[in-house]
Amino acid sequence: MRCERCGMELMGGRGAYHWRSEVAAIGDDVLSSTEIDLDLEKYRRRLFEELSAMDPEEIENDVYQLWEGVLCRPCRLELGKLLARFLR
Ligand SMILES: [Zn+2]
Repeated sequence: MRCERCGMELMGGRGAYHWRSEVAAIGDDVLSSTEIDLDLEKYRRRLFEELSAMDPEEIENDVYQLWEGVLCRPCRLELGKLLARFLR
């Protein structure tokens, strides 16, 4: 078994951590709003332009993404420090 981030060999799973992270969009979908005004129209046009430039996988990943894998202890600690910067 190896750390999927740095490649460190983890003999028999010793010092290995299973990492799982789920990121999902939670904001209201502006496209479903029935309120129409100029700003909303501008926003819609820009959103459609952005979406048409993205491939379907990119759009799906923008809304929901699951990352999981095996990490070694040093990578687990590094990831923990990184997340602690904005998660309390
Ligand atoms: Zn590692």
